Amino acid sequence: MRNFGLIGNPLSHSFSKKYFTNKFKKESILDANYELFPIKEIDEIKLLLQEQKDLLGLNVTIPYKQAVIPYLDELDPTAKAVGAVNTIKISTLENVQVQLKGYNTDVIGFRQSLKPFLAKEHERALIFGNGGASKAVSYVLDQLNIPHFIVSRNPTGVKAISYSELDEASVSRFQLLINCTPLGMSPNLDQMPPIPMDAVGKKHLAYDLVYNPLETKFLAMAKAKGALTVNGLSMLQLQAEAAWKIWNEEK
Ligand code: NAP
Repeated sequence: MRNFGLIGNPLSHSFSKKYFTNKFKKESILDANYELFPIKEIDEIKLLLQEQKDLLGLNVTIPYKQAVIPYLDELDPTAKAVGAVNTIKISTLENVQVQLKGYNTDVIGFRQSLKPFLAKEHERALIFGNGGASKAVSYVLDQLNIPHFIVSRNPTGVKAISYSELDEASVSRFQLLINCTPLGMSPNLDQMPPIPMDAVGKKHLAYDLVYNPLETKFLAMAKAKGALTVNGLSMLQLQAEAAWKIWNEEK
């Protein structure tokens, strides 16, 4: 059996096990298994690897996407540039784990899910939140030459601004709005980042990385103002498929 899994904390609402279990069934992949490994601190990854010697790959989620990096032997250049890892490929030699390599498939998932919706008016962006996902999103926007600011409660660096600096004039000039905070995620359905939504209009594209619920308060308000809206489901599926491809590639 080829074993894969997810580390993070908490994992009670995780999508990945359901996604991979369904995928294995649907595609008659009979030799693979995907399990959840909730760990209370990142150092527990050492024990996990000792106990699960046949693990070939792991996904990494909140809060370990950055903390896991010192435990890896190598980083793929994209993961290195982003500074966050959500996929680990474990190479084995005669059943001994010999190398852990980190990747960031959030980058692939976000880029591929955004591109079909991008139009020429989406030439400047605002990213809300400055965590692991925000770093992957900012990396993709840099690749696509879309200048952007990161709106944060604690802005640091030249790209970062605070919520109090956001006014209607700036929101109307930045027509790509991307929520990278967990605000609005179930069960906190009535939350959203404090954005002056009256400035949102038909030319805006509002993207929410949250996928549960499929329409967050942020997306519902943007839609009511005439904006095009995209939720995080497609990104989630694309990043999972990208991880599967990495785990199955020959070295
Ligand atoms: P994270 O590392 O915990 O970062 C979230 C950021 O949101 C924080 O750094 C913080 O930024 C901001 N934030 C948190 N609580 C807030 C609050 N009460 N008010 C305002 N801002 C707040 O999480 P992440 O990994 O980046 O994930 C963020 C969201 O994206 C989660 O909901 C996650 O499920 C989703 N996600 C979806 C996908 C997908 O494939 N669709 C992939 C990755 C993540 P500041 O401190 O700078 O304000």
